[in-house]
Amino acid sequence: MNAGELLSLCKRRGFIWPSFEIYGGVAGMYDYGPLGTVLKDNIISMWRNAYKKGEGFVEIDSETVNPEQVFKASGHIDEFSDFVVYCQGCNEPFRADHLVGDLHPNPDTLDAAGLKSLFVENGVRCPDCDGELGEVEEFNLMFKTNIGPGSSRVGYLRPETAQGIFVNFPHLYRYNREKLPLGVIQHGRGYRNEISPRQGIIRLREFNMMEVELFVDPEDKGWVRYPTIKDETLRLVPEDGRERSITVSEAVSEGIIANEVLAYFIWFTKDLLTRLGVDGERLRFRQHLSDEMAHYAMDCWDAEVLLSYGWTEIVGIADRGCWDLTQHAKWSKQDMSHFKRFDEPKEIERDVLKAKYRELGPLFKGDAKEIARLIEERALADVDNGVLKVEFNGEMLDIPENLFEAVTVREKISGEKVVPHVIEPSHGLDRIFYTILEHAYRRDDDYTVLSLRPEVAPIKVGVFPLMTRDGLDTKAEEIFRMLNDAGIDAYYDDSGSIGKRYARMDEVGTPWCVTVDYETLEEDRGTKDTVTLRDRDSSEQRRIPVVNLLNVMQSLIKGEDFASL
Ligand code: AMP
Repeated sequence: MNAGELLSLCKRRGFIWPSFEIYGGVAGMYDYGPLGTVLKDNIISMWRNAYKKGEGFVEIDSETVNPEQVFKASGHIDEFSDFVVYCQGCNEPFRADHLVGDLHPNPDTLDAAGLKSLFVENGVRCPDCDGELGEVEEFNLMFKTNIGPGSSRVGYLRPETAQGIFVNFPHLYRYNREKLPLGVIQHGRGYRNEISPRQGIIRLREFNMMEVELFVDPEDKGWVRYPTIKDETLRLVPEDGRERSITVSEAVSEGIIANEVLAYFIWFTKDLLTRLGVDGERLRFRQHLSDEMAHYAMDCWDAEVLLSYGWTEIVGIADRGCWDLTQHAKWSKQDMSHFKRFDEPKEIERDVLKAKYRELGPLFKGDAKEIARLIEERALADVDNGVLKVEFNGEMLDIPENLFEAVTVREKISGEKVVPHVIEPSHGLDRIFYTILEHAYRRDDDYTVLSLRPEVAPIKVGVFPLMTRDGLDTKAEEIFRMLNDAGIDAYYDDSGSIGKRYARMDEVGTPWCVTVDYETLEEDRGTKDTVTLRDRDSSEQRRIPVVNLLNVMQSLIKGEDFASL
Protein backbone atom coordinates (compact mmCIF):
# COMPACT_ATOMS: atom_id res chain seq x y z
CA MET A 1 0.00 0.00 0.00
CA ASN A 2 1.06 3.60 -0.22
CA ALA A 3 0.52 6.27 2.39
CA GLY A 4 -1.59 8.33 -0.04
CA GLU A 5 -4.31 5.61 -0.16
CA LEU A 6 -4.53 5.46 3.61
CA LEU A 7 -4.45 9.24 4.05
CA SER A 8 -7.28 9.57 1.57
CA LEU A 9 -9.34 7.00 3.52
CA CYS A 10 -8.55 8.89 6.73
CA LYS A 11 -9.77 12.11 5.18
CA ARG A 12 -12.92 10.61 3.64
CA ARG A 13 -13.98 8.74 6.77
CA GLY A 14 -13.20 11.47 9.32
CA PHE A 15 -9.99 10.23 10.97
CA ILE A 16 -7.75 13.20 10.08
CA TRP A 17 -8.05 16.28 7.92
CA PRO A 18 -5.37 18.70 6.72
CA SER A 19 -5.80 21.80 8.91
CA PHE A 20 -7.05 25.08 7.42
CA GLU A 21 -7.81 23.31 4.15
CA ILE A 22 -10.26 25.99 2.99
CA TYR A 23 -7.32 28.44 3.09
CA GLY A 24 -4.96 26.12 1.27
CA GLY A 25 -3.65 24.27 4.34
CA VAL A 26 -0.36 24.57 6.23
CA ALA A 27 2.34 21.90 5.88
CA GLY A 28 2.77 19.77 8.99
CA MET A 29 -0.61 20.64 10.50
CA TYR A 30 -3.55 18.23 10.72
CA ASP A 31 -6.85 18.11 12.63
CA TYR A 32 -8.44 14.98 14.07
CA GLY A 33 -11.97 14.26 12.83
CA PRO A 34 -14.72 12.47 14.79
CA LEU A 35 -13.37 8.92 14.37
CA GLY A 36 -9.74 10.02 14.72
CA THR A 37 -10.49 11.81 17.98
CA VAL A 38 -11.98 8.64 19.49
CA LEU A 39 -9.15 6.44 18.19
CA LYS A 40 -6.60 8.90 19.61
CA ASP A 41 -8.39 8.93 22.99
CA ASN A 42 -8.48 5.13 23.04
CA ILE A 43 -4.71 5.02 22.49
CA ILE A 44 -4.21 7.54 25.31
CA SER A 45 -6.42 5.47 27.63
CA MET A 46 -4.49 2.27 27.02
CA TRP A 47 -1.17 4.08 27.56
CA ARG A 48 -2.51 5.75 30.72
CA ASN A 49 -3.84 2.47 32.12
CA ALA A 50 -0.59 0.67 31.40
CA TYR A 51 1.46 3.22 33.34
CA LYS A 52 -0.99 4.34 36.05
CA LYS A 53 -2.76 1.11 36.86
CA GLY A 54 0.01 -1.23 35.72
CA GLU A 55 3.03 0.51 37.23
CA GLY A 56 1.61 2.97 39.77
CA PHE A 57 2.68 6.16 37.96
CA VAL A 58 0.91 9.50 38.52
CA GLU A 59 -0.34 11.87 35.82
CA ILE A 60 -0.04 15.65 35.53
CA ASP A 61 -1.09 18.31 33.05
CA SER A 62 1.24 21.30 32.76
CA GLU A 63 1.44 24.51 30.70
CA THR A 64 2.27 24.51 27.00
CA VAL A 65 3.73 28.07 27.01
CA ASN A 66 6.89 28.20 29.13
CA PRO A 67 9.11 31.11 30.14
CA GLU A 68 12.54 31.34 28.53
CA GLN A 69 14.48 30.17 31.63
CA VAL A 70 12.96 26.68 31.33
CA PHE A 71 14.52 26.11 27.91
CA LYS A 72 17.77 27.91 28.75
CA ALA A 73 18.13 25.40 31.58
CA SER A 74 17.00 22.39 29.53
CA GLY A 75 19.43 23.26 26.73
CA HIS A 76 16.75 23.61 24.05
CA ILE A 77 17.57 27.26 23.29
CA ASP A 78 21.20 26.41 22.55
CA GLU A 79 20.84 22.90 21.16
CA PHE A 80 17.41 22.18 19.74
CA SER A 81 18.02 22.84 16.07
CA ASP A 82 18.22 21.23 12.65
CA PHE A 83 20.20 22.37 9.61
CA VAL A 84 18.30 24.21 6.89
CA VAL A 85 19.35 24.93 3.33
CA TYR A 86 17.42 27.17 0.91
CA CYS A 87 17.20 26.61 -2.82
CA GLN A 88 18.71 29.64 -4.56
CA GLY A 89 16.24 29.19 -7.42
CA CYS A 90 12.79 28.60 -5.87
CA ASN A 91 13.62 29.69 -2.30
CA GLU A 92 12.17 26.49 -0.84
CA PRO A 93 13.71 25.50 2.52
CA PHE A 94 14.93 21.90 3.02
CA ARG A 95 16.20 19.97 6.00
CA ALA A 96 19.81 19.57 4.94
CA ASP A 97 20.30 16.05 6.36
CA HIS A 98 17.19 14.81 4.53
CA LEU A 99 18.78 15.66 1.16
CA VAL A 100 21.77 13.36 1.71
CA GLY A 101 20.01 10.28 3.13
CA ASP A 102 21.42 8.10 0.31
CA LEU A 103 24.93 9.50 0.58
CA HIS A 104 25.70 8.97 4.25
CA PRO A 105 24.77 6.18 6.71
CA ASN A 106 23.68 8.66 9.37
CA PRO A 107 23.41 12.25 8.10
CA ASP A 108 21.81 13.26 11.42
CA THR A 109 25.30 13.19 12.94
CA LEU A 110 26.83 15.71 10.49
CA ASP A 111 27.47 19.39 11.25
CA ALA A 112 26.91 22.29 8.83
CA ALA A 113 30.37 21.96 7.24
CA GLY A 114 29.99 18.17 6.84
CA LEU A 115 26.61 18.57 5.16
CA LYS A 116 27.87 21.35 2.89
CA SER A 117 30.83 19.31 1.70
CA LEU A 118 28.56 16.31 0.94
CA PHE A 119 26.41 18.65 -1.20
CA VAL A 120 29.43 19.97 -3.08
CA GLU A 121 31.15 16.58 -3.57
CA ASN A 122 27.96 14.95 -4.85
CA GLY A 123 26.47 17.88 -6.76
CA VAL A 124 23.27 17.80 -4.66
CA ARG A 125 20.63 20.20 -6.05
CA CYS A 126 17.09 21.28 -5.20
CA PRO A 127 14.76 18.25 -5.46
CA ASP A 128 11.90 20.51 -6.57
CA CYS A 129 13.44 22.74 -9.28
CA ASP A 130 17.02 21.44 -9.64
CA GLY A 131 18.27 24.88 -8.54
CA GLU A 132 21.53 25.47 -6.70
CA LEU A 133 21.50 25.11 -2.91
CA GLY A 134 22.72 27.91 -0.64
CA GLU A 135 24.61 27.80 2.66
CA VAL A 136 23.70 25.30 5.40
CA GLU A 137 22.42 27.17 8.45
CA GLU A 138 21.33 26.16 11.94
CA PHE A 139 17.60 26.64 12.63
CA ASN A 140 16.13 26.47 16.15
CA LEU A 141 12.91 24.46 16.10
CA MET A 142 11.08 26.23 18.93
CA PHE A 143 8.17 28.63 18.39
CA LYS A 144 8.90 31.88 20.22
CA THR A 145 6.24 34.13 21.72
CA ASN A 146 5.77 36.80 24.39
CA ILE A 147 4.05 36.26 27.70
CA GLY A 148 1.85 39.30 28.35
CA PRO A 149 1.97 42.60 26.48
CA GLY A 150 5.25 43.98 25.17
CA SER A 151 8.28 41.87 24.58
CA SER A 152 9.85 41.91 28.03
CA ARG A 153 8.87 38.33 28.97
CA VAL A 154 9.91 35.90 26.27
CA GLY A 155 8.16 32.55 26.17
CA TYR A 156 8.30 29.43 24.00
CA LEU A 157 5.76 26.80 23.06
CA ARG A 158 7.09 23.60 24.62
CA PRO A 159 8.90 21.29 22.18
CA GLU A 160 8.25 18.36 24.58
CA THR A 161 5.94 17.88 27.55
CA ALA A 162 8.83 16.52 29.66
CA GLN A 163 10.02 19.88 30.98
CA GLY A 164 6.62 20.43 32.66
CA ILE A 165 7.35 17.32 34.72
CA PHE A 166 10.94 18.30 35.56
CA VAL A 167 10.06 21.81 36.74
CA ASN A 168 7.39 20.29 39.00
CA PHE A 169 9.82 17.76 40.49
CA PRO A 170 9.85 19.35 44.01
CA HIS A 171 6.01 19.15 44.17
CA LEU A 172 5.93 15.64 42.73
CA TYR A 173 8.65 14.46 45.10
CA ARG A 174 6.74 15.73 48.13
CA TYR A 175 3.51 14.24 46.74
CA ASN A 176 5.32 10.88 46.54
CA ARG A 177 6.34 11.25 50.22
CA GLU A 178 9.96 11.92 49.21
CA LYS A 179 10.48 8.40 47.88
CA LEU A 180 11.99 6.97 44.72
CA PRO A 181 11.22 5.51 42.26
CA LEU A 182 8.74 8.13 41.17
CA GLY A 183 6.95 7.68 37.85
CA VAL A 184 5.07 10.55 36.19
CA ILE A 185 3.18 10.65 32.90
CA GLN A 186 1.84 13.52 30.85
CA HIS A 187 0.23 13.74 27.45
CA GLY A 188 -0.41 16.87 25.45
CA ARG A 189 0.73 19.00 22.57
CA GLY A 190 4.37 19.59 21.66
CA TYR A 191 5.41 22.20 19.11
CA ARG A 192 8.37 22.00 16.75
CA ASN A 193 8.77 24.40 13.85
CA GLU A 194 9.87 21.60 11.51
CA ILE A 195 11.75 22.88 8.46
CA SER A 196 9.96 21.04 5.69
CA PRO A 197 7.34 18.53 6.88
CA ARG A 198 6.23 16.34 3.97
CA GLN A 199 5.17 12.98 5.37
CA GLY A 200 1.51 13.23 6.40
CA ILE A 201 1.20 13.06 10.18
CA ILE A 202 4.67 11.56 10.68
CA ARG A 203 6.27 14.99 10.89
CA LEU A 204 4.02 17.68 12.32
CA ARG A 205 4.63 21.17 13.59
CA GLU A 206 2.08 20.77 16.36
CA PHE A 207 1.90 17.20 17.56
CA ASN A 208 0.70 14.99 20.39
CA MET A 209 3.04 13.39 22.85
CA MET A 210 2.59 10.86 25.63
CA GLU A 211 5.63 11.20 27.85
CA VAL A 212 6.78 9.20 30.82
CA GLU A 213 9.48 10.34 33.23
CA LEU A 214 10.66 7.81 35.74
CA PHE A 215 12.91 9.21 38.49
CA VAL A 216 15.21 6.58 39.95
CA ASP A 217 18.09 6.35 42.40
CA PRO A 218 21.23 6.59 40.21
CA GLU A 219 22.72 3.65 42.11
CA ASP A 220 19.64 1.50 41.78
CA LYS A 221 18.62 1.16 38.16
CA GLY A 222 16.60 -1.99 38.72
CA TRP A 223 12.86 -2.57 38.51
CA VAL A 224 10.68 -4.84 40.67
CA ARG A 225 8.92 -6.54 37.80
CA TYR A 226 12.09 -7.01 35.74
CA PRO A 227 12.38 -10.73 36.72
CA THR A 228 8.91 -11.40 35.27
CA ILE A 229 9.93 -10.31 31.74
CA LYS A 230 13.65 -10.99 31.60
CA ASP A 231 13.19 -14.03 29.31
CA GLU A 232 11.07 -12.15 26.77
CA THR A 233 12.65 -11.46 23.38
CA LEU A 234 13.55 -8.08 21.91
CA ARG A 235 14.57 -7.30 18.35
CA LEU A 236 17.49 -4.91 18.78
CA VAL A 237 19.77 -2.92 16.51
CA PRO A 238 22.55 -1.85 18.87
CA GLU A 239 25.14 0.83 18.17
CA ASP A 240 27.29 -1.65 16.19
CA GLY A 241 24.46 -1.86 13.62
CA ARG A 242 24.17 -5.70 13.85
CA GLU A 243 20.50 -6.55 14.29
CA ARG A 244 19.73 -9.43 16.69
CA SER A 245 16.79 -10.95 18.56
CA ILE A 246 17.82 -11.70 22.13
CA THR A 247 16.24 -11.95 25.55
CA VAL A 248 15.97 -8.91 27.77
CA SER A 249 18.37 -10.43 30.31
CA GLU A 250 20.96 -11.27 27.63
CA ALA A 251 20.78 -7.67 26.39
CA VAL A 252 21.51 -6.44 29.93
CA SER A 253 24.19 -8.99 30.82
CA GLU A 254 26.04 -8.41 27.54
CA GLY A 255 25.98 -4.67 28.24
CA ILE A 256 23.91 -3.93 25.12
CA ILE A 257 21.22 -2.21 27.18
CA ALA A 258 22.84 -0.24 29.99
CA ASN A 259 20.61 -1.22 32.92
CA GLU A 260 17.57 -3.25 33.98
CA VAL A 261 15.16 -0.36 34.30
CA LEU A 262 15.89 0.88 30.76
CA ALA A 263 15.57 -2.71 29.49
CA TYR A 264 12.28 -3.18 31.34
CA PHE A 265 10.74 -0.10 29.76
CA ILE A 266 11.98 -1.05 26.29
CA TRP A 267 10.12 -4.34 26.73
CA PHE A 268 7.13 -2.50 28.26
CA THR A 269 6.99 -0.24 25.17
CA LYS A 270 7.03 -3.29 22.89
CA ASP A 271 4.21 -4.86 24.88
CA LEU A 272 2.08 -1.70 24.84
CA LEU A 273 2.66 -1.02 21.13
CA THR A 274 1.72 -4.55 20.11
CA ARG A 275 -1.38 -4.47 22.31
CA LEU A 276 -2.33 -1.21 20.56
CA GLY A 277 -2.08 -2.98 17.20
CA VAL A 278 1.47 -2.32 15.98
CA ASP A 279 2.63 -5.41 14.06
CA GLY A 280 5.36 -7.10 16.14
CA GLU A 281 7.06 -8.28 12.93
CA ARG A 282 7.50 -4.67 11.84
CA LEU A 283 8.85 -3.37 15.15
CA ARG A 284 12.45 -3.11 16.32
CA PHE A 285 14.51 -1.07 18.79
CA ARG A 286 17.49 0.86 17.47
CA GLN A 287 20.15 2.35 19.70
CA HIS A 288 21.30 5.89 18.96
CA LEU A 289 24.91 6.36 17.94
CA SER A 290 26.79 8.45 20.49
CA ASP A 291 27.00 11.42 18.08
CA GLU A 292 23.30 11.14 17.21
CA MET A 293 22.08 11.31 20.81
CA ALA A 294 20.10 14.34 22.04
CA HIS A 295 22.09 16.73 24.24
CA TYR A 296 20.45 15.37 27.41
CA ALA A 297 20.75 11.61 26.81
CA MET A 298 23.21 9.03 28.24
CA ASP A 299 21.69 6.20 26.21
CA CYS A 300 18.72 6.16 23.85
CA TRP A 301 16.74 3.49 22.01
CA ASP A 302 14.11 4.24 19.38
CA ALA A 303 11.11 2.00 18.85
CA GLU A 304 11.11 1.92 15.05
CA VAL A 305 8.32 0.57 12.89
CA LEU A 306 8.33 -0.38 9.25
CA LEU A 307 5.91 1.89 7.36
CA SER A 308 5.43 2.75 3.71
CA TYR A 309 7.80 5.65 4.56
CA GLY A 310 10.53 3.17 5.63
CA TRP A 311 11.71 2.46 9.21
CA THR A 312 10.32 5.27 11.37
CA GLU A 313 10.85 6.21 15.02
CA ILE A 314 7.60 6.24 16.98
CA VAL A 315 8.85 6.13 20.59
CA GLY A 316 12.20 7.30 21.99
CA ILE A 317 13.34 5.63 25.22
CA ALA A 318 16.18 7.58 26.79
CA ASP A 319 18.25 7.41 29.93
CA ARG A 320 18.47 11.17 30.54
CA GLY A 321 20.76 10.67 33.55
CA CYS A 322 20.69 13.62 35.95
CA TRP A 323 20.85 16.22 33.16
CA ASP A 324 17.45 17.87 33.53
CA LEU A 325 17.23 18.06 37.32
CA THR A 326 20.83 19.27 37.63
CA GLN A 327 20.22 21.97 35.04
CA HIS A 328 16.97 23.16 36.64
CA ALA A 329 18.60 23.16 40.09
CA LYS A 330 21.39 25.34 38.70
CA TRP A 331 19.12 27.82 36.92
CA SER A 332 16.32 28.01 39.51
CA LYS A 333 18.59 27.67 42.58
CA GLN A 334 16.05 25.22 44.00
CA ASP A 335 16.78 21.85 45.52
CA MET A 336 16.03 19.13 42.97
CA SER A 337 17.62 16.28 44.89
CA HIS A 338 16.43 13.17 46.67
CA PHE A 339 17.46 12.53 50.27
CA LYS A 340 18.59 8.94 50.25
CA ARG A 341 18.32 7.41 53.73
CA PHE A 342 20.92 4.81 54.71
CA ASP A 343 19.72 1.56 56.29
CA GLU A 344 21.95 2.39 59.30
CA PRO A 345 23.28 5.88 60.17
CA LYS A 346 26.92 6.24 59.06
CA GLU A 347 29.74 7.91 60.94
CA ILE A 348 31.84 10.09 58.67
CA GLU A 349 34.76 12.48 58.95
CA ARG A 350 34.33 15.89 57.40
CA ASP A 351 36.56 18.95 57.05
CA VAL A 352 34.75 22.12 58.11
CA LEU A 353 35.70 25.76 58.57
CA LYS A 354 35.85 27.04 62.13
CA ALA A 355 35.91 30.78 62.83
CA LYS A 356 38.60 32.14 65.20
CA TYR A 357 36.36 34.10 67.53
CA ARG A 358 39.26 35.65 69.40
CA GLU A 359 40.66 37.28 66.29
CA LEU A 360 37.28 38.27 64.85
CA GLY A 361 36.06 40.08 68.02
CA PRO A 362 38.45 43.04 68.01
CA LEU A 363 38.14 43.44 64.25
CA PHE A 364 34.36 43.25 63.79
CA LYS A 365 33.04 44.09 67.29
CA GLY A 366 29.22 43.61 67.39
CA ASP A 367 29.20 41.99 63.93
CA ALA A 368 31.75 39.30 64.83
CA LYS A 369 29.16 36.67 65.76
CA GLU A 370 27.30 37.01 62.46
CA ILE A 371 30.52 36.95 60.45
CA ALA A 372 31.65 33.83 62.31
CA ARG A 373 28.34 32.21 61.36
CA LEU A 374 28.81 33.17 57.71
CA ILE A 375 32.34 31.69 57.71
CA GLU A 376 31.20 28.41 59.27
CA GLU A 377 28.43 28.06 56.69
CA ARG A 378 31.01 27.84 53.93
CA ALA A 379 33.08 24.88 52.76
CA LEU A 380 36.81 24.39 52.56
CA ALA A 381 36.55 24.35 48.76
CA ASP A 382 35.35 27.98 48.85
CA VAL A 383 38.72 29.18 50.15
CA ASP A 384 40.66 30.68 47.27
CA ASN A 385 44.34 31.46 47.72
CA GLY A 386 43.94 31.68 51.47
CA VAL A 387 40.98 34.07 51.25
CA LEU A 388 37.31 33.36 51.88
CA LYS A 389 34.73 35.73 50.41
CA VAL A 390 31.54 36.21 52.43
CA GLU A 391 28.61 38.49 51.75
CA PHE A 392 27.74 40.68 54.68
CA ASN A 393 25.11 43.46 54.55
CA GLY A 394 25.18 43.39 50.75
CA GLU A 395 29.00 43.77 50.58
CA MET A 396 31.61 41.14 49.77
CA LEU A 397 34.20 40.83 52.54
CA ASP A 398 37.61 39.17 52.03
CA ILE A 399 38.31 37.10 55.14
CA PRO A 400 42.02 36.18 55.38
CA GLU A 401 43.07 32.74 56.59
CA ASN A 402 44.28 33.89 59.99
CA LEU A 403 40.61 34.44 60.96
CA PHE A 404 39.52 30.82 60.41
CA GLU A 405 40.90 27.28 60.36
CA ALA A 406 40.02 23.91 58.83
CA VAL A 407 39.15 21.23 61.36
CA THR A 408 38.11 17.62 60.91
CA VAL A 409 34.88 16.63 62.64
CA ARG A 410 33.27 13.21 63.06
CA GLU A 411 29.52 13.09 62.66
CA LYS A 412 26.67 10.64 62.22
CA ILE A 413 24.60 11.08 59.09
CA SER A 414 21.35 9.30 58.27
CA GLY A 415 21.56 9.72 54.50
CA GLU A 416 22.82 11.81 51.60
CA LYS A 417 21.44 13.92 48.79
CA VAL A 418 21.50 12.47 45.27
CA VAL A 419 20.13 13.86 42.03
CA PRO A 420 17.71 11.26 40.62
CA HIS A 421 18.30 9.85 37.16
CA VAL A 422 15.49 9.87 34.63
CA ILE A 423 14.35 7.09 32.32
CA GLU A 424 12.05 8.51 29.65
CA PRO A 425 9.83 6.62 27.23
CA SER A 426 8.55 9.43 24.98
CA HIS A 427 5.73 8.39 22.65
CA GLY A 428 4.77 10.24 19.46
CA LEU A 429 1.01 9.78 19.59
CA ASP A 430 0.33 10.83 16.00
CA ARG A 431 2.96 8.40 14.72
CA ILE A 432 1.53 5.56 16.82
CA PHE A 433 -1.95 6.47 15.51
CA TYR A 434 -0.70 6.36 11.91
CA THR A 435 1.20 3.08 12.44
CA ILE A 436 -1.84 1.38 13.93
CA LEU A 437 -3.86 2.38 10.88
CA GLU A 438 -1.20 1.38 8.36
CA HIS A 439 -0.54 -1.98 10.02
CA ALA A 440 -4.29 -2.67 10.16
CA TYR A 441 -4.95 -1.70 6.54
CA ARG A 442 -5.86 -4.47 4.07
CA ARG A 443 -7.19 -3.94 0.58
CA ASP A 444 -8.42 -6.72 -1.72
CA ASP A 445 -10.17 -6.05 -5.00
CA ASP A 446 -11.34 -2.60 -3.97
CA TYR A 447 -12.60 -3.88 -0.58
CA THR A 448 -10.88 -2.22 2.38
CA VAL A 449 -10.68 -3.57 5.91
CA LEU A 450 -8.99 -1.93 8.87
CA SER A 451 -8.28 -4.75 11.32
CA LEU A 452 -8.07 -2.45 14.33
CA ARG A 453 -7.75 -4.08 17.74
CA PRO A 454 -11.14 -3.95 19.52
CA GLU A 455 -9.75 -1.87 22.41
CA VAL A 456 -8.65 0.98 20.13
CA ALA A 457 -11.37 0.75 17.46
CA PRO A 458 -13.38 4.01 17.52
CA ILE A 459 -16.63 2.12 16.89
CA LYS A 460 -16.95 -1.24 18.61
CA VAL A 461 -20.21 -2.33 17.02
CA GLY A 462 -22.44 -1.31 14.13
CA VAL A 463 -26.16 -1.81 14.71
CA PHE A 464 -28.41 -2.28 11.68
CA PRO A 465 -32.08 -3.02 11.09
CA LEU A 466 -32.44 -5.30 8.06
CA MET A 467 -35.26 -2.99 6.87
CA THR A 468 -36.50 0.34 8.14
CA ARG A 469 -40.00 -0.99 8.73
CA ASP A 470 -42.07 -3.59 10.59
CA GLY A 471 -40.57 -2.59 13.90
CA LEU A 472 -37.05 -3.76 12.93
CA ASP A 473 -35.77 -0.18 13.11
CA THR A 474 -37.36 0.44 16.54
CA LYS A 475 -35.78 -2.74 17.91
CA ALA A 476 -32.37 -1.85 16.40
CA GLU A 477 -32.55 1.66 17.87
CA GLU A 478 -33.31 0.16 21.28
CA ILE A 479 -30.26 -2.12 21.04
CA PHE A 480 -28.09 0.76 19.84
CA ARG A 481 -29.14 2.85 22.86
CA MET A 482 -28.64 0.00 25.29
CA LEU A 483 -25.05 -0.54 24.06
CA ASN A 484 -24.18 3.15 24.04
CA ASP A 485 -25.66 3.64 27.52
CA ALA A 486 -23.41 0.83 28.75
CA GLY A 487 -20.38 2.72 27.40
CA ILE A 488 -19.84 0.62 24.27
CA ASP A 489 -19.27 2.86 21.25
CA ALA A 490 -22.01 1.77 18.85
CA TYR A 491 -23.03 3.19 15.47
CA TYR A 492 -26.55 3.01 14.07
CA ASP A 493 -26.83 2.67 10.30
CA ASP A 494 -30.00 2.01 8.29
CA SER A 495 -28.99 3.25 4.86
CA GLY A 496 -28.14 1.12 1.82
CA SER A 497 -27.85 -2.65 1.58
CA ILE A 498 -26.58 -4.69 4.52
CA GLY A 499 -23.47 -5.50 2.45
CA LYS A 500 -22.74 -1.79 2.01
CA ARG A 501 -23.22 -1.20 5.72
CA TYR A 502 -20.79 -4.02 6.59
CA ALA A 503 -18.31 -2.55 4.12
CA ARG A 504 -18.57 0.92 5.70
CA MET A 505 -17.91 -0.56 9.14
CA ASP A 506 -15.02 -2.75 7.90
CA GLU A 507 -13.40 0.29 6.32
CA VAL A 508 -13.28 2.17 9.65
CA GLY A 509 -12.15 -0.84 11.68
CA THR A 510 -15.38 -1.75 13.51
CA PRO A 511 -14.84 -5.29 14.83
CA TRP A 512 -18.51 -6.43 15.02
CA CYS A 513 -21.91 -5.68 13.58
CA VAL A 514 -25.36 -6.55 14.96
CA THR A 515 -28.28 -7.01 12.59
CA VAL A 516 -31.92 -7.05 13.63
CA ASP A 517 -33.87 -9.15 11.11
CA TYR A 518 -37.29 -10.75 10.84
CA GLU A 519 -36.20 -13.71 12.96
CA THR A 520 -35.69 -11.27 15.82
CA LEU A 521 -39.43 -10.67 15.82
CA GLU A 522 -40.59 -14.23 15.13
CA GLU A 523 -42.68 -15.68 17.92
CA ASP A 524 -42.61 -19.38 17.11
CA ARG A 525 -39.18 -20.36 15.70
CA GLY A 526 -37.22 -19.94 18.91
CA THR A 527 -35.38 -16.95 17.49
CA LYS A 528 -37.48 -14.27 19.18
CA ASP A 529 -35.27 -11.51 20.54
CA THR A 530 -32.09 -12.83 18.99
CA VAL A 531 -29.85 -10.89 16.60
CA THR A 532 -26.98 -11.82 14.28
CA LEU A 533 -23.54 -10.79 15.40
CA ARG A 534 -20.94 -10.62 12.62
CA ASP A 535 -17.20 -10.75 13.17
CA ARG A 536 -15.14 -8.44 10.91
CA ASP A 537 -12.00 -10.58 10.68
CA SER A 538 -13.59 -13.99 10.01
CA SER A 539 -16.88 -12.71 8.50
CA GLU A 540 -18.53 -15.41 10.64
CA GLN A 541 -21.97 -14.83 12.14
CA ARG A 542 -23.66 -16.07 15.34
CA ARG A 543 -27.21 -15.69 16.61
CA ILE A 544 -27.17 -14.14 20.05
CA PRO A 545 -30.10 -13.49 22.42
CA VAL A 546 -30.46 -9.73 22.94
CA VAL A 547 -30.40 -10.23 26.72
CA ASN A 548 -26.87 -11.65 26.42
CA LEU A 549 -25.59 -9.08 23.92
CA LEU A 550 -24.07 -6.69 26.43
CA ASN A 551 -22.12 -9.42 28.20
CA VAL A 552 -20.98 -10.90 24.92
CA MET A 553 -19.79 -7.51 23.66
CA GLN A 554 -17.93 -6.80 26.89
CA SER A 555 -16.07 -10.09 26.81
CA LEU A 556 -15.24 -9.75 23.11
CA ILE A 557 -13.78 -6.28 23.73
CA LYS A 558 -11.70 -7.74 26.55
CA GLY A 559 -10.23 -10.23 24.08
CA GLU A 560 -12.47 -13.30 24.06
CA ASP A 561 -12.27 -15.21 20.80
CA PHE A 562 -15.34 -14.88 18.54
CA ALA A 563 -15.02 -18.55 17.57
CA SER A 564 -15.63 -19.56 21.19
CA LEU A 565 -19.10 -17.95 21.29
P1 AMP B 1 11.85 13.08 20.75
O1 AMP B 1 11.65 13.93 21.97
O2 AMP B 1 12.46 13.82 19.60
O3 AMP B 1 12.48 11.74 21.02
O4 AMP B 1 10.37 12.77 20.25
C1 AMP B 1 9.56 11.86 20.92
C2 AMP B 1 8.60 11.23 19.94
O5 AMP B 1 7.77 12.24 19.40
C3 AMP B 1 9.29 10.60 18.74
O6 AMP B 1 9.57 9.26 18.99
C4 AMP B 1 8.27 10.75 17.66
O7 AMP B 1 7.38 9.65 17.69
C5 AMP B 1 7.48 11.97 18.05
N1 AMP B 1 7.83 13.15 17.23
C6 AMP B 1 8.96 13.89 17.29
N2 AMP B 1 8.91 14.90 16.42
C7 AMP B 1 7.70 14.82 15.81
C8 AMP B 1 7.04 15.59 14.81
N3 AMP B 1 7.59 16.67 14.29
N4 AMP B 1 5.79 15.21 14.42
C9 AMP B 1 5.19 14.11 14.96
N5 AMP B 1 5.78 13.35 15.90
C10 AMP B 1 7.01 13.69 16.32
